Amino acid sequence: MTQHDENIASRRRFLKLAAGSAAVAAAAGVMPGLARARDLPHVSPSDATAKALHYVEDASKSDSPKHKAGDDCANCMFYQGKAGQAYGPCQLFPGKAVNAKGWCISHQPKK
Ligand code: SF4
Repeated sequence: MTQHDENIASRRRFLKLAAGSAAVAAAAGVMPGLARARDLPHVSPSDATAKALHYVEDASKSDSPKHKAGDDCANCMFYQGKAGQAYGPCQLFPGKAVNAKGWCISHQPKK
């Protein structure tokens, strides 16, 4: 093998490795996102922010005078869960999931 052949062979090995790493990195970038959406810890109504916002897990049990019948997290503009999911992320509780049937005083109807 000449020096030139050796250089080509080593470049091929590098490219193969780089392509493999990119695939692994891409998969790693997607997987945590999937895991996160499903595994986010649920907001506890006793959490300080939740208390301040009068968050309840069941909108129908809210005793806030601001709660309007029919309003819940699932139809709030801050809710980021998918339709049919029991829990989903809320922009006001980063890193946590709220109950789709929950509610808080920051509720804003989806447009
Ligand atoms: S802001 Fe909206 S989605 Fe978030 S907890 Fe309040 S009502 Fe639910």
